[in-house]
Amino acid sequence: MKKQETNSLEKIVSFCKRRGFVYPSSEIYGGFGAIYDYGHYGILLKNNIRDAWWRAMVQLREDVVGLDSAIFMHPQTWVASGHVAGFNDPQVDCKECKNRFRADHLLEEFGLNLDKATLEEINKALDELRQDKKLKCPVCGSKNLTEAKVFSLMVKSNLGSPTDELSEKSVVYLRPETCGGIYLEYKNVLDTLHPKLPFGIAQVGKAFRNEIVARQFIFRTREFEQMEMQYFLKPEQMEEKYEKWKQLRWDWYLEYGIPKDKIHWYKHEKLAHYASQAYDIEFDFQALGGFKEVEGIHARGDWDLSQHAKSSGADLTYFDDETKERLLPHIMETSVGLNRLLLMFLDNAYTEEDVDPSSAEASEGRGEQRAVLKIDKRLAPVKIAIFPLLKNKPNLVAKAREIYLALRTKYFCEFDDNGNIGKRYRRQDEIGTPYCVTVDFETLEKDDSVTVRDRDSMKQERVPIKDLEQFFLEKFKS
Ligand code: ATP
Repeated sequence: MKKQETNSLEKIVSFCKRRGFVYPSSEIYGGFGAIYDYGHYGILLKNNIRDAWWRAMVQLREDVVGLDSAIFMHPQTWVASGHVAGFNDPQVDCKECKNRFRADHLLEEFGLNLDKATLEEINKALDELRQDKKLKCPVCGSKNLTEAKVFSLMVKSNLGSPTDELSEKSVVYLRPETCGGIYLEYKNVLDTLHPKLPFGIAQVGKAFRNEIVARQFIFRTREFEQMEMQYFLKPEQMEEKYEKWKQLRWDWYLEYGIPKDKIHWYKHEKLAHYASQAYDIEFDFQALGGFKEVEGIHARGDWDLSQHAKSSGADLTYFDDETKERLLPHIMETSVGLNRLLLMFLDNAYTEEDVDPSSAEASEGRGEQRAVLKIDKRLAPVKIAIFPLLKNKPNLVAKAREIYLALRTKYFCEFDDNGNIGKRYRRQDEIGTPYCVTVDFETLEKDDSVTVRDRDSMKQERVPIKDLEQFFLEKFKS
């Protein structure tokens, strides 16, 4: 099978809408900037990615526990963490076309890496480009760009009585990252579950950031989901555990079908003052034109707990049974965007290819081209589709429904009797369904077996109905 050209962002966006994965939010009102809704297949895929992460990070570990903390937290949380004062991005405006840009991203286009630079450093670099007459708006080409200024990413809201609506006192923030809730619940976890160092707390949940520019579909949005794990340890355990987690996270991508030449490590050279190591896993997005961050793995020292202890007055130390001493644990985190991973898996799996002319499907006139989502079976939104060969033969339909009703108690299944078999295969290929089961006349008249067709090889085999459960158990075992 010959694979066709690479995926463009337009292709992925259009596929997501056409096949009910992702819709722009509030479309009947003209849309709402950088916010997206997930349709039937989108939420199935998102849940499967989340479950795969949870399985690796919590279910298969004895040293990590789960948490689901609230989106709203005491406003002091974000003062203590430094977010209210410092969670900013540098913004540049084009005075002609009125577009806004992140200054550090604009500078990246000139090969300058000013990640974590001060506003002065950024404006100095912009001035140098301006003097060389190189600085121009990436959208309209105008040279009329403003200085960089600080833009807060924190999203504000109000809680409490409506009369408080405009009062500063009622301002709360929608959390910009989920780990804040983990730091605040660390003490309850210690006091109730009594874990021993080193141990982790993991959670999945929504986060909100007033991103300056959010033009890359679901790669960067203002409302998104994070999957984060904070690992609490003694300082002397950091080096070893950090390397272990780096390896575990790297292996997770390979396990779910990401080729190793499509991911790499990006090492942060400029670290926050409390951090000792910071690496990102970057994926080579075809649709976004290159490597971009999907996950951060950071050694954060005791910054988070010491800030919250200072600010709240709570004792956040840990009593070490062996040394009989109290210590403030250090933290390393793994932090990944669920929506970003969904885009990564689609980018990696969506394939348009010519069907081998010698294959059964091509020779039966079932189309010479297909779009197929070659995604890991465990992540596929629908696992098995069940068809009666013909819609108007009640015996075929009844048998196919019987199989569907039995299989759907174990796997996410779809029953489809619409159009010819070739069209049904194409529909299932495009949403990534690994197996299609067809009930035909032979099933009823001859051998009580069905045809099972494989998404990737397009090969078909006969399987007795009584063996189907075992057959799929083997196919989906992990
Ligand atoms: P960037 O530099 O791209 O703005 P960041 O380094 O601030 O991102 P982190 O705060 O480390 O990102 O967030 C951890 C992870 O959360 C990221 O690797 C990414 O997968 C996800 N993430 C962060 N911001 C967004 C967003 N606006 N939309 C979608 N996912 C996001």
